Amino acid sequence: MASESRHDILFEPVRIGPKTTPNRFFGVPHCNGAGSQRPGAQAAFRAMKAEGGWGVVCVEYCAISPESDDTPHISVRLWDEGDVVNLRHTTDSVHRHGALAGIQLWYGGGHAPVRESLAIARGPSQLPSETAYQNYCHECDEDDIAELIEMYVIAAKRSEQAGFDYVEIIGSDSALPTQFLQPMYNKRSDRWGGSLENRARFWLETMAAVKRAVGDRVAVGTRIAIDNLLGPAGLELEEGLRFVELITREGVCDLWNIKISYFMEWGNDAGPSRFFKAGYQTWAAKAVKDVVNVPVVGVNRMTSPDDMARIIGAGEADLIGAARPSIADPFLPKKIQEGRTDDIRECIGCNICVSQFNQEAPLICTQNATAMEEYRRGWHPEKFEAAPAPCSVLVVGAGPAGLECARVLGERGYEVHLREAEDEIGGHIRDVMRYPGLAEWGRLVSYRQAQIDKLPAVALHTGVGKMTADDVLAYGADKIVIAVGAHWATDGLNAVDFGAIAGADAALPQFCTPEQIMRGKAVGERVVVIDGDGYFTGVAMAEMMADQGKQVSVVTQFNEVAPFCELTLEGPNLQRLLHEKNIACYPLHWIERIAIDNTVKLSLAYAYRDGYQIELPPQTGQAPRRLGTEVSELECDTVILCTARKSNRALFTELKTRKSEWAANQIRAVYHVGDCHTPRFMQLSIFEGHRLAREFEAKNPQLPLPFIREQPIWGEATSPTPNGRN
Ligand code: SF4
Repeated sequence: MASESRHDILFEPVRIGPKTTPNRFFGVPHCNGAGSQRPGAQAAFRAMKAEGGWGVVCVEYCAISPESDDTPHISVRLWDEGDVVNLRHTTDSVHRHGALAGIQLWYGGGHAPVRESLAIARGPSQLPSETAYQNYCHECDEDDIAELIEMYVIAAKRSEQAGFDYVEIIGSDSALPTQFLQPMYNKRSDRWGGSLENRARFWLETMAAVKRAVGDRVAVGTRIAIDNLLGPAGLELEEGLRFVELITREGVCDLWNIKISYFMEWGNDAGPSRFFKAGYQTWAAKAVKDVVNVPVVGVNRMTSPDDMARIIGAGEADLIGAARPSIADPFLPKKIQEGRTDDIRECIGCNICVSQFNQEAPLICTQNATAMEEYRRGWHPEKFEAAPAPCSVLVVGAGPAGLECARVLGERGYEVHLREAEDEIGGHIRDVMRYPGLAEWGRLVSYRQAQIDKLPAVALHTGVGKMTADDVLAYGADKIVIAVGAHWATDGLNAVDFGAIAGADAALPQFCTPEQIMRGKAVGERVVVIDGDGYFTGVAMAEMMADQGKQVSVVTQFNEVAPFCELTLEGPNLQRLLHEKNIACYPLHWIERIAIDNTVKLSLAYAYRDGYQIELPPQTGQAPRRLGTEVSELECDTVILCTARKSNRALFTELKTRKSEWAANQIRAVYHVGDCHTPRFMQLSIFEGHRLAREFEAKNPQLPLPFIREQPIWGEATSPTPNGRN
């Protein structure tokens, strides 16, 4: 199949300085947790995008000096020759598929925590950092500024040596060029501060120096947040465009990579689908495109080829920039080119990928279980090892794990019978996609439904009711995978004291679990949500109730409601939402007991009500500190219990206890996967479903096979080896 002609425009080459892209798909810099320390993982991850048709594939932000050390976060580095060698493997791997390789040169100034290098960063003015405790930069003099510009030049030369075709000076995300540009950070009164021309001087001279050094062989561009969304306190569009014009007049920029917002509100740029729909930054790229004469990259979490073609056709951008859509589906361009748009695995905008960066961990993706597994486990998102022998598999439950397991087994050629008790597939995603703002999460189901529909090896049966152990044993399959999910605890089981909440019972009319809410159980006018979970469910319940006009409170043991959403960048806008919708929050509180008379009364205890002094050594049988007893009372009509989930274990447990009957029923193995094994993040359930299917012939696929670890081995040479030390 060939691309539909209306998408042909996406496959036109674009000239960027001395280089030409093969098409308009531009994989923008984003982190994956590999940095330059795990060259195998870095190269295989980026190469997969190149193989999938991305015309330009960038690695993440690159610390150009130990002064710009972002530890504990993991970035690429170009500090010495060792980094050059490691990154050369990535560019070679990307080039093998005909794509250009890009790198983003980053100097964080006062925002670089320098926790590993312990160096001192430099910046325009000595100010405290808004991102790291006790972090200040050294205020530059003229010599410092010259040295900083030289650092960019050295890094650009190393980039060329490492084989990169495109070098990007990052100014966005409050990096050093923006710190000079914005009066918020730049308090100088010399030729580097004050007027726009003075504040722009550092960015301009850096671009010019890099262009002089490598610009006739390497494309040189820059990334700017053209409007910080801070109003007059930050960079507004009008001044941003005047800056762009100024750089354009000097002819030192081959490409503009455009975004919005600033580092502390990064979630307005890498916008979660809860708050931002695809295309929400188009205006920014368009505004820049109107004033420049070089290509413009627009980022938009775009997954629709029709939208992409419209943007290019309307002159709103020259290149389709993407991070998340390229993670969720590295083969998105190829699928468009081959006319297989219904095979695109669309990003759902959950930002789990970002949460991993914020936890200093390798990237994972809810949609694409193979992301970052290309090297260490050898997984390819579009290729599957054929099943070694005919084998029929019964998968019980078509929730996230069951669907993914059935899909991958089907791709491998196993004969799969996927049986779902309900009329529709999706398991608890069917509820989640109806939570406020989370409709796009339904793509987890629609993608898998579309793929399974195409797989002749997979027979899907819905509405079959709950299978019993007798049903499973008699089914006639060689192997069984149980994937029947989990449920919310009905008694307030929680991670505060690992017990139930006294008085909580979802069998009573005054209590609901999230599942009961979604099935329409009656709710009173005053609602208390207990968020012991910390992710999206508690806050979704609260928002739903507030939208129904109820008076809503949320009690949580955490510092704030839904703290995990800080890691997915939903946090700041979510807290604003709670405030704006008059949802009262009781952070750092837990419930001692719940009493019911005419109303429901919750006794709330402050998390730190006990004395701060500890008696040492503690006396046996006595608490080692003064125990606080004070409580406050919260009245309501209904309590929603989002405290903990419990696996639906009964079916698997019964099958295990009847293991002696397996052979007589020709059953060779029974596995369980997803939440019915252990409740976890949705992406981890999907991952487990995928992994089990990939490793299905292992001796015990219930346990993961070893994967490649990239780690220094004692006794091997280090790099560099200062003073001959190793
Ligand atoms: Fe998209 Fe979520 Fe995957 Fe990130 S983790 S790429 S937001 S689907």
